[in-house]
Amino acid sequence: MPAEIIDGKAIAQEIRESLPARVAKVEEKLGFPPGLGVMLVGDDPASATYVGMKEKACAKAGIHSRQVTLGAQVTPEEVFGHIDDLNNDERIHGILIQQPLPPQIDTEAVCAATSPEKDVDGFHPHNLGELLRAGTAPFIACTPRGVIELLERTDTPIKGAKAVVLGRSNIVGKPAALLLLARHATLTICHSRTEDLPAVCREADILVAAVGRPKMVKGDWVKPGATVIDVGTNRLDDGTLCGDVDFDDVAEVAGKLTPSPGGVGPMTIAMLLVNTVESAERRAGLA
Ligand code: NDP
Repeated sequence: MPAEIIDGKAIAQEIRESLPARVAKVEEKLGFPPGLGVMLVGDDPASATYVGMKEKACAKAGIHSRQVTLGAQVTPEEVFGHIDDLNNDERIHGILIQQPLPPQIDTEAVCAATSPEKDVDGFHPHNLGELLRAGTAPFIACTPRGVIELLERTDTPIKGAKAVVLGRSNIVGKPAALLLLARHATLTICHSRTEDLPAVCREADILVAAVGRPKMVKGDWVKPGATVIDVGTNRLDDGTLCGDVDFDDVAEVAGKLTPSPGGVGPMTIAMLLVNTVESAERRAGLA
């Protein structure tokens, strides 16, 4: 029987529609709305598109956004100067620094320089450490948080389930794995050196694919009835986008499946807005 398709767009929309009322309460308390500082460095067209989408989403939710646009040749001193400025701006509750950054800018140092109290990306060592230590943190990275929201809002049992996370990056794979572990999944993390990947994936009740390899996960990698969350967003030569999962093949086997695009992507933006509003609520003493 074909899988139930998890509609990330619709779930993200539902979350976004709940935000203006919360934004209004923050504005009432502080005298100004939640604010997101967005830094775009360099001339990567995909980054500019993502930033544009995020700013549009902010505007729709009533969140103020302040963009800092810097050229590809910018010096580290200038970048850190702008981060300081955003850290000290009381109207800014979240700071997003769009990656990738040009090679002269140390991405890890940039993550560490962002105030952990405005770290809506969840990449600051403090927030990553809290996630490791406590299974939660004031800020959880938007994409992994979106993955968990999709599972929880579709009533997918996590406790006791066998979860396999394909990918171990600091921004997706590892935090997604820690969030599943904190919810009592029995966890396996796979990567490029994992042997017999299909066999490991076939064990999963929940399979999260975050590898960046177009359509890598096939139907015969999936346990019948499993829930498959496709984080992958890959641009093919013809310009179209596809996930890490071979959607048509896996839809014949899985119980539930996210499309890509239209699954985790919209959730990532929704979670960025939620993280920003939550940060402002904490500042306003509302949370
Ligand atoms: P990274 O390149 O940082 O990490 C990829 C991970 O996949 C690594 O751990 C790597 O292993 C592993 N991997 C790569 N190739 C293979 C393979 N053939 N077999 C097994 N494991 C493999 O990617 P990200 O985590 O940043 O992103 C992953 C995907 O998610 C991408 O498609 C990206 O575009 C997408 N993405 C989507 C977002 C959204 O909002 N929808 C947001 C962020 C990312 P190793 O560690 O051994 O190198």
